[in-house]
Amino acid sequence: MKKYSLDIVGCTGAKEYLLSALEGGYVSHAYIVEGAFGTGRHRLVRELIKAMACENDTAPCGRCGSCIKIDAGVCVDIYRIKTAEGKSELTVDLIRGIYDTLGLMPNDLPFKAYIIDDGEKMNTYAQNAFLKMFEEPPSNVYFFLITSDASKLLPTVRSRALVLRTEKLNREQINSVLDREGVPDDAKRKAAVELADGSAGEAIRIYNDDAESVNVRAVSDKLVEALFSPGSDKLGFINLHHKNIRKTDELCRVYTLVQRAVRDIMLYRAGAEKELLYFSSSEALEEMSLRVSDKAVMRVNDVIDELLQLADTPLNPALTMTEFASRIWDCHLL
Ligand SMILES: [Zn+2]
Repeated sequence: MKKYSLDIVGCTGAKEYLLSALEGGYVSHAYIVEGAFGTGRHRLVRELIKAMACENDTAPCGRCGSCIKIDAGVCVDIYRIKTAEGKSELTVDLIRGIYDTLGLMPNDLPFKAYIIDDGEKMNTYAQNAFLKMFEEPPSNVYFFLITSDASKLLPTVRSRALVLRTEKLNREQINSVLDREGVPDDAKRKAAVELADGSAGEAIRIYNDDAESVNVRAVSDKLVEALFSPGSDKLGFINLHHKNIRKTDELCRVYTLVQRAVRDIMLYRAGAEKELLYFSSSEALEEMSLRVSDKAVMRVNDVIDELLQLADTPLNPALTMTEFASRIWDCHLL
């Protein structure tokens, strides 16, 4: 009997289900894979396809012709349909295009797989066209509809396929993905992991090309420190903003992070044992939590909410910074 394994970090529920479906021979012809960007949706599908296609008894082996072609992304029996560059909708033409190849015999694998990206971007016409195939796929065809939000799909589409979910990863899981992908373990990576909000893909993206985000973290560290540690004053706090931030959208990005620190402090004060969103250890958090009242943390959080709602409003950045920095400082003393 074939033995299966799926090399995926996280997604415990989906993984357990797929392993028993593989072993029991009841892998379905259509799945909806729902989860946030960078949480392993494509990897889940790729590992499953490899396991199904692998020519060896311990599947996927990573060495046979099928495994190698799938890993290299050159398998002609795997079709990927996604939104055209610069377009916000997955159009009915793209979905109808599937019919052109649907009846063809597979070349490399014993079956064909269609991976539809950005499922939530299908308009109603596209979804209806898709539904026809989804309902009665040919026996050697598998459909994987990848989406960040299955609730945007028509109920008729949702009811035809099982939903597999990928979940946000904790820092340890993100680090193990980054190890696997060969991302060097340095200070930049640490900052990227903390900014990535549970998404390994996002951590890799930030590490590779978003030097600015890492800087945003450095600025927010300074503000959090000034706000919740001894030895700073209101003018110094306001000046920190003017020295480090130029535009309103930068201000909002910095405060998105500061708000995560505030939530950590709030939850800590409430005695809730939640995974930390901002702080990397509870020691710094503990010290800062002791210096503010519950009321102060809640008010600071409210003012940040107010600030973040202004993200898309054209404002004078210098005035906005002074006003909000001043209000946040006053609130934190409550
Ligand atoms: Zn193989």
